[in-house]
Amino acid sequence: MLRVCALYPDLMNIYADRGNLLVLERRCAWRGIGFDVRAAGLGDAVDPDAHDLFYLGGGQDRDQRLCAFDLVQTKRDALHAAAARGALVLGVCGGFQLLGHAYALGDEEIPGLGLVDLHTVRGAGERLIGNVAIEVELEPGARRVLAGFENHGGRTHLGAGERPLGRILRGHGNTGASGAEGVRRGSVIGTYLHGPLLPKNVWFADWLIATATGTRDLAPLDDTLEEAAHAGARRAAGVG
Ligand code: GLN
Repeated sequence: MLRVCALYPDLMNIYADRGNLLVLERRCAWRGIGFDVRAAGLGDAVDPDAHDLFYLGGGQDRDQRLCAFDLVQTKRDALHAAAARGALVLGVCGGFQLLGHAYALGDEEIPGLGLVDLHTVRGAGERLIGNVAIEVELEPGARRVLAGFENHGGRTHLGAGERPLGRILRGHGNTGASGAEGVRRGSVIGTYLHGPLLPKNVWFADWLIATATGTRDLAPLDDTLEEAAHAGARRAAGVG
């Protein structure tokens, strides 16, 4: 059984991030793995032990601001407790930014969860937009490519002790200059990749399902269509 907590699915859902949840649901169902998704919106408390995967999607600055204060006030302690016991926390784009300490927008500072040591600054520069491909190594020795699309104004700077999720093959990534994309600290993962992320990278969806449920060998599925989508996303990013 995969128990998912979708954080602010109505507000943090730019670029159809809901598709990520649908992929998890379908891939569990096709294998006979139970799936339960609960939404946690503004003001809702979260039970750190009730879910295996906490998902926070992307959003526009306005919606992100609304969620940030609510996250800090009503969900921060629970999410720290969940991450500490090894539950997966996945933040995409705006959700990735909120995993860190703060998102600075001009004179304003939007607070973050502080699950990882990073901060984001919305400078005067252009938005970083386009197709992107990164090389990740989720398990030692197993290098894979994640392909997707990014569109963010914020530049995200990782603290000295943090590791990125992947290395930029094509695209901008965290700052447009560092070569780093996303963040990974144990079970906490952040990335700028939309696409949506999981429909284009079903191997990553399977890694999340396997990790969150503690399943070693997931039954294989016919992924002809999904692999074509992945290849198309790689081609769009210019990575064969
Ligand atoms: N609002 C954030 C930014 O522009 C995140 C955008 C997003 O989630 N696509 O940096």
